[in-house]
Amino acid sequence: MAPPLPDESGTPSADAVGADLHYRRALDQGQFLIQRCGACDRSVFYPRMVCPHCGSDRLDWFAPSGAATVYSTTVVRGRPQDGGDRNVALLDLAEGVRMMSRVDGIAPADVKIGMAVQARVLMAEDGGKVVFVPADVAQAIPSGDGVAA
Ligand SMILES: [Zn+2]
Repeated sequence: MAPPLPDESGTPSADAVGADLHYRRALDQGQFLIQRCGACDRSVFYPRMVCPHCGSDRLDWFAPSGAATVYSTTVVRGRPQDGGDRNVALLDLAEGVRMMSRVDGIAPADVKIGMAVQARVLMAEDGGKVVFVPADVAQAIPSGDGVAA
């Protein structure tokens, strides 16, 4: 039986997986990195090999400020034994990219659209994760190595 032909249309290329891997490995070291395009100077997230704005492949990694505002927020109801209610939010980074994450440090329902938040890297069992805390909480509790500088 002949091996199946590789599907080159819909599957991510090895290079695209490489960008994703780079991102995850940095996170596992406690570093939150996004990309900036060397051609059009715009920030890029989620990690890619080619700039979605101009098509250039001159993407460089850098640590964003971590400052962000809440674009949208949702409370996901959960049973207490599963950790209770959780917050899921879309955050606009100061660098101009939007990402999905959550806001910690306050009750899920207290997260408001437009709220200023700060990124933190949380070390979970399955590796590093970017979460956000309200900016005033971030100031009150200086974080360790985890924050993007
Ligand atoms: Zn570009």
